[in-house]
Amino acid sequence: MILAIDIGGTHYKLALVSAEGQIHRLHQGSTDRTGGAAWMIPRLLQEGRTLLTQAPASVRACGIGFGGPVDFAGQRILSSTHVGGWNEICLPRIIEAELGLRAVVENDANAGGLGELVFGVGQGCRHLVYLTISTGIGGGIIIDGQVYRGANGQAGELGHLPILPEGPECDCGNQGCLEALCSGKSIGRRAEEAVVRQPARGAELRRLAGAGPLSAEVVFKAARQGDELARELVEETCLYLGMGLATLINILAPEMIVLGGGVSRAGETLLAPLRQMANRFAMPVHRSLVRLEQARHPDQAVLLGAVALARELV
Ligand SMILES: [Zn+2]
Repeated sequence: MILAIDIGGTHYKLALVSAEGQIHRLHQGSTDRTGGAAWMIPRLLQEGRTLLTQAPASVRACGIGFGGPVDFAGQRILSSTHVGGWNEICLPRIIEAELGLRAVVENDANAGGLGELVFGVGQGCRHLVYLTISTGIGGGIIIDGQVYRGANGQAGELGHLPILPEGPECDCGNQGCLEALCSGKSIGRRAEEAVVRQPARGAELRRLAGAGPLSAEVVFKAARQGDELARELVEETCLYLGMGLATLINILAPEMIVLGGGVSRAGETLLAPLRQMANRFAMPVHRSLVRLEQARHPDQAVLLGAVALARELV
């Protein structure tokens, strides 16, 4: 049995998971953004101890997926994408000292890719690209069954593929990145701009949103219900995403691209036009090779990838 931990910007999760990926107990909480690492670490230790007392079998190791850059070779968290206090933290060492478990930490998108490869839709694949689209866009590249980390350990930043020169500003400091166009937040922002620009259109979009903001979820729902403006927004999203995916396909020739994160819940409303767009831009030689699939474990992929890494420790 493995103690798996997923530390994200809005939520964190701890779970007892069998080495075969069966989740036995799951605890989920909201991340205190202002409290940062000083708040999170004692909480993880306390909740970890409680879970360990409830384990139906002996817990052999701990795997952690973390929302920010991780130095995998040095087993250090470098910083958090979302909250403060995480600079240069060797969390596995703290877990080992406090809980007596060998531990391993990996970036959450890399862990998510491994989770889908080992326990999800990518089972049987050796070369897989995982793209998680939620508030932001993260990525994990798996080559020959292993996470590809690059020369500095930070490969796979797929959200920052340059797509549109002079495009909207991105959190990374660049302009027109995939994330600045197609993350959940960015799709919502483009929808808000579109209804301001074209006030006579998007009636269904506005009705579905009510008094709330125009989220990506509302855009996909309105598109399914035939709203023309929403359909154009989905088409534009698939154009940008398709360009990004074709770039990955032409370079890596993966067997499968897996879409995870909240936006992937749009299912075929997103996947069907996206397959067409990716094929339009990819080299013909790749077109019959690559499958584009929805993640099987959109909520648990990070935990499951942490399990895949931790079970290597024992
Ligand atoms: Zn960027």
